[in-house]
Amino acid sequence: MAEVIDGKAFAEGLRERIAVASTAFTAAAGRPAGLAVVLVGEDPASQVYVRNKGKQTVACGMASFEHKLPADTTEADLLALIAQLNTDPAVDGILVQLPLPAHLNEQTVIAAINPDKDVDGFHVVNVGRLATGMPGFVPCTPLGCVMLLRDRLGSLAGMEAVVIGRSNIVGKPMAQLLLAESCTVTVAHSRTHDLPAVVSRADIVVAAVGRPEMVKGAWLKPGATVIDVGINRVPAAEPGKTRLVGDVDYASASTVAGAITPVPGGVGPMTIAVLLRNTLVAAHRNAGVVLDE
Ligand code: NDP
Repeated sequence: MAEVIDGKAFAEGLRERIAVASTAFTAAAGRPAGLAVVLVGEDPASQVYVRNKGKQTVACGMASFEHKLPADTTEADLLALIAQLNTDPAVDGILVQLPLPAHLNEQTVIAAINPDKDVDGFHVVNVGRLATGMPGFVPCTPLGCVMLLRDRLGSLAGMEAVVIGRSNIVGKPMAQLLLAESCTVTVAHSRTHDLPAVVSRADIVVAAVGRPEMVKGAWLKPGATVIDVGINRVPAAEPGKTRLVGDVDYASASTVAGAITPVPGGVGPMTIAVLLRNTLVAAHRNAGVVLDE
């Protein structure tokens, strides 16, 4: 059976290290690092994410600024808030919770964030920095995946990596990060021919598809390391109940893989921990304080 990669425990350890570094930052800078989270509308899942982000930010000794705007907020009002946060010296990181209501253009809104406060790493400047190997902010979920991979495998150089999914949020930055780790990277997507054959040559499989239990154990190279980014809610055995599953069929994959992330408890907990890490990095850069890593 595959070793279980415990993202929950890794994220806890990361948050503990961030809390120590955050206390040192507050002492050196005379203020805590600050994260502003902007939520437009009342999407229930987004409300839960924003609440958890706020709680964990404070638990790590940082300041949390929550801006909850009504669903009918105009683009001009949202851009005015972002402009104000861009120049607020207490705010090191700005996160606009996605998805935004349909009348707001996500690209316009993300482009308005100061790239040096873009702790989500979605601004085109940070996308370009990642692609060209310059220091910037990297999207939290894929960076969390690389942390788990390096923790398990050490150097990833020369490994065959297959990323399934090419979204701007997960698949593409994941591929860039693995390339930066000197993996040989293949990016698969909905138009890929014979996905099982593509996956079968991978030492590292990252599934970011959004299709419940799509990747089967029979597709995997024995001993492969499998990172399951998917979060899918499906009906549970008990009528009326639901449960979370990943994009990988855990039951079959865990009999073939060398190591695998579970869902829940794998990649999911890493995302907020990495967001806090990015915020602390931003704070050090903004305040000109050197970070001991
Ligand atoms: P998107 O829907 O933006 O992208 C999905 C990708 O999967 C697309 O590139 C699509 O290809 C590809 N795809 C769809 N069907 C197939 C198929 N049959 N075979 C191969 N590829 C396929 O999703 P996200 O990247 O935003 O998210 C992916 C998953 O990760 C979701 O389950 C999401 O909930 C989860 N997630 C988890 C996070 C966490 O914190 N753990 C954070 C973010 C996302 P094409 O481009 O051709 O359409």
